[in-house]
Amino acid sequence: MLNKTKVVVTIGPATMEKEQIKRLMVGGMDVARLNMSHANYNFCKDVIEKIQELNEELHLSIATMIDLMGPEVRTGKFANGEAYFRKGDKIRIYMDDITGDSTKFSVNYSGLIKDVSYNNIIKVKDGMMSFLVIDKKDDCIICEVLTDGTIENNQTVSVEGIKLNLPKMNNKDETDIIFAHKMNVDFLALSYVCTQEDVLAVSDILIGLKNDHIGIISKIETEEGVNNLDEIIRVSDGIMVARGDLGVDIPIERIPGVQKKIIEKCHKAGIVSIVATELLSSMEKTVRPTRAEVSDVANAVLDGADAVMLSNETTVGKYPIETLGMMEKIINSAEKDIDYLEFIKNKESNTMDITSMISHSVVECASKLNCCAIIAPTMSGYTARKMSNCRPSCPVIAVSPNESTVKSLQLHFAVNPVLINDLKDFDKIIEVSKKVTFELISTQPGDRIIITGGYPFKAVKSTNFMKIEEL
Ligand code: PEP
Repeated sequence: MLNKTKVVVTIGPATMEKEQIKRLMVGGMDVARLNMSHANYNFCKDVIEKIQELNEELHLSIATMIDLMGPEVRTGKFANGEAYFRKGDKIRIYMDDITGDSTKFSVNYSGLIKDVSYNNIIKVKDGMMSFLVIDKKDDCIICEVLTDGTIENNQTVSVEGIKLNLPKMNNKDETDIIFAHKMNVDFLALSYVCTQEDVLAVSDILIGLKNDHIGIISKIETEEGVNNLDEIIRVSDGIMVARGDLGVDIPIERIPGVQKKIIEKCHKAGIVSIVATELLSSMEKTVRPTRAEVSDVANAVLDGADAVMLSNETTVGKYPIETLGMMEKIINSAEKDIDYLEFIKNKESNTMDITSMISHSVVECASKLNCCAIIAPTMSGYTARKMSNCRPSCPVIAVSPNESTVKSLQLHFAVNPVLINDLKDFDKIIEVSKKVTFELISTQPGDRIIITGGYPFKAVKSTNFMKIEEL
């Protein structure tokens, strides 16, 4: 299944073994995500090394993403890993690290006690559990439980209608960025991005590290982030619609509209969009998703997202491989319902550069002539990115001798990036590109392909030719 919509898979205890990772890589995972709110360095290093080994073994270029914890508050640990809270009970929330049970738990932010007032509502686990503040002591907040339910270790904590005084850039994030750089990770996802400055603070650290290849994905999960979307897009390589935390900060019913708006703005700006969280949630426990979840995945595809993401389904779920398989099936079916010609007809070029113009023409020809592939040799990935932004009806096989270019394209709709040996001769590059394409897609005599790129290869920065071939 050569789907165009990409899949980001979060790796966790359920998928950390090499055999599981291999099955995910073969099964359609394009980017492996490591969530620093849960994962430690040993875990991340082990997973990244396994992916590197498997990339070599399987001749793949699956990319890696480190998702920073950001300025967020989380619960501490519970005896047995979880505790049940009963509506109406009085419980204590401690600022110091204690082992929790059904009468108490701790948080990792000592300032919470100062930030909250009587009658505030503390939300835990992406808003699933609510606690009313009824009193404050020196070391703890006393609350009444408003909803029955279970809380596990390390769940999110927020306060309804209150912006907590958390530092924007914490030590953990800074150390995690340096770790991501050392591990040669391909994407950094930034949590709770609210303004352009939040992104620029990370860019500055990367410039200091002389890292020019890591792609920055800004997670939109607050009202402020939604309001400042345009300025955030200007300094990001991609946006994640982080629906988990977003659904706590804004009324949950606004999520579908905000999702569509974010995807549309990303399209216009020519950057990637990822729809995340609870796409196939019920598959954490059962082998079949609900009809509503199937519609949710399909609608993300039809909205025009570049990628969709799996979180708990693959970190702690019972059926991670089956969930990915189901996601690929839904994507495959939904992509057949995209009106590619209509899209390219309505797509205005936002710049007048030659690459944009040729990309538009290539994608239009590919749709009208029903081509089976667009072959795009590329050094920087620019041509492939432009092509992807025009939403082609067929795969774009982007061959490059540059490994970081290849991995940077793993989030782009329709782009199948392939690493080739550094080839000097242009004819040889085309020959190798065609060979790679025929290994990836099955073709029939009479099928058409489009070859596009910049000639002479390496010497020009823009795309300046397209060639249509009949097989
Ligand atoms: C989200 O909130 O939807 C999200 C993707 O972030 P995290 O998994 O870090 O909570």
